[in-house]
Amino acid sequence: MKRVLLLLATALGIAGFALLPQEAAVSAPAAETSTPVTMTCSRPVLDVATGQPVSIGGIPWYAETGDTIQSHEWQGRTRYEYGGRRYHYIGGVAGPNRVFIVEDCTQPQAPPAPAVPPTVTRIADDVYVFSHSGYTTMFIVTDEGVIVGDPIGNARARLLKDAIQAVTPLPVRYMVYSHHDADHNTGGAVFKETATYVSHVTAKDKIAARNDPNSPVPDITFEDRMTLRLGRARLELSYVGRNHSDSSIVTLYPAGRVAFIVDFAPTNSLPFGTRNEDYVAEWIESLRRVEAMDFDTIIPGHGDPGPKEWATKVREYFQDLITAIENAERLGLAPRSPQMIASVRAALFPKYGSWDVFGPRLPDNVRGMYEYWDRMGRFPVR
Ligand SMILES: [Zn+2]
Repeated sequence: MKRVLLLLATALGIAGFALLPQEAAVSAPAAETSTPVTMTCSRPVLDVATGQPVSIGGIPWYAETGDTIQSHEWQGRTRYEYGGRRYHYIGGVAGPNRVFIVEDCTQPQAPPAPAVPPTVTRIADDVYVFSHSGYTTMFIVTDEGVIVGDPIGNARARLLKDAIQAVTPLPVRYMVYSHHDADHNTGGAVFKETATYVSHVTAKDKIAARNDPNSPVPDITFEDRMTLRLGRARLELSYVGRNHSDSSIVTLYPAGRVAFIVDFAPTNSLPFGTRNEDYVAEWIESLRRVEAMDFDTIIPGHGDPGPKEWATKVREYFQDLITAIENAERLGLAPRSPQMIASVRAALFPKYGSWDVFGPRLPDNVRGMYEYWDRMGRFPVR
């Protein structure tokens, strides 16, 4: 596998590239037929086969040095590996058996595309939402400094730092990682002069294992809950069980009536296809715990903030998805078959057809449920 990648890199003339994680080699038997795709740093990723931007949920994807994606065929479908994780679905990328390698940002590059400015929105007195190229984070300005959510990538973290400095001269005192996924918590080193890093205990080792100088290892971790105080501000951090990952937390700011919740209560979008690290039964329970919390607005990791009701809607989506799959089984439709997916699609469309990425992501969610059941067993839906 290493040899294949070296050949690819040589063919591309790429000096700096990231090796695929060990797991990728196991699950990508067809890599020899891969077609490499060149990506540049912090610019929309172009697929050299089509010349079209690669997108996630319809939003252009911005690559950074060291990002590596592999797509390959597995059980009749295209699967992806990204950020060291297996089976991370990336909607909109077409075609099997391609290796995507991000070239070293220090290498000479093509003329830069026009810079896309971030969006910074003040949604409460002291709460700001920062969005750029499909990713969202937040920061809270207290009387003694700033508390930030995820850094959301090296290039975005630099823009985030500029955005904070445009609002306040106070330093960033805390960075609270939402979970361990690299795409959300890379880049926090831009605040390392002044910040203390906080995460769930499970995230710490996984972040440390990446050994990425741009991603400081958490200084403070907690298991169930933790109160974070800075000046007159108080944040309640809580672990609500496994869901999209085993390290996802809720960062609740009662005074602003907001909660920063990444990747497990998406606002106006289907969840990612369930993958090796998803826990659907516990996910449903964790959403119930979010529903019981007292706040108004979810700040997500992708897209725009939305009302807390999205936690309820996403829970109902999982329940309805499972019911629709089981009804299709009763009709005799084969698991994962196109006929089953069509049946589930027809059942869910009236209630969920208007959500983002309903079209491309639903098949992945159906297949993902079977992957979850294969791994964890069936469970009663209630
Ligand atoms: Zn994630």
